[in-house]
Amino acid sequence: MNKKEFAVIGLGRFGGSICKELSEEGMQVLAIDKDEDRVNGYKNIASHAVILDSTDEDALKEIGISNFEHVIVAIGENIQASILTTVILKDLGVRKVTVKAQNDYHEKILTKIGADKIVHPERDMGKRLAHNFISSNILDYLELSDDHSIAEVKAGMKMVGKSLIDLDIRARYGCNVVAIKQGRDINVSPRADALLKEDDVLIVIGADIDLSRFEKHLVIDD
Ligand code: ATP
Repeated sequence: MNKKEFAVIGLGRFGGSICKELSEEGMQVLAIDKDEDRVNGYKNIASHAVILDSTDEDALKEIGISNFEHVIVAIGENIQASILTTVILKDLGVRKVTVKAQNDYHEKILTKIGADKIVHPERDMGKRLAHNFISSNILDYLELSDDHSIAEVKAGMKMVGKSLIDLDIRARYGCNVVAIKQGRDINVSPRADALLKEDDVLIVIGADIDLSRFEKHLVIDD
């Protein structure tokens, strides 16, 4: 596989961890921040690290930002700088720009100005944790769109010893079990008549409203 070229702008906790992870995976990463100390902290981690204010179009041109395949804008607090940076990057022809949104208002503007992907890590993590707090059987909850998600749920008391046919999840709740994890194995076309065992983990996809009914009736142990 060819090494992909990434640039990460903003080396706070979020941008910094993206930068570290991509570098550890062997990707070419240019780390950018306007703060010298932050940049110094990534000199030995990223392929290159530069001090630069990303609202300065000429500075971005000078480092050839349009040659990067994917630029991640991880500026949080300063929403104005995040928006301006995104506009400049799209204007300069960067193909894929992912931006961290600070709030819903920020997200709306980013959508309008052409950000290719918008991430909202605090909100998403809050959502995932809330589902796990409701029931420890809900292991993960991933948003697919505003109203659809994927839930990873452990077979609880109400499911163990029953088959997918018995549970009739699609007809009753409008959700689909797309895979079942058993330890390290993942079965992507689970048999409808196999009995579920304790520790089986179901990957279920559906509308939030349907997933919520499914969780209430089958996942949360009374
Ligand atoms: P996190 O939660 O990820 O730690 P945050 O949401 O608190 O971050 P900030 O600390 O505001 O976000 O910004 C992250 C980084 O972005 C900081 O290191 C900051 O110096 C950098 N940054 C902010 N504005 C710019 C800019 N215009 N150009 C380059 N870097 C910037």
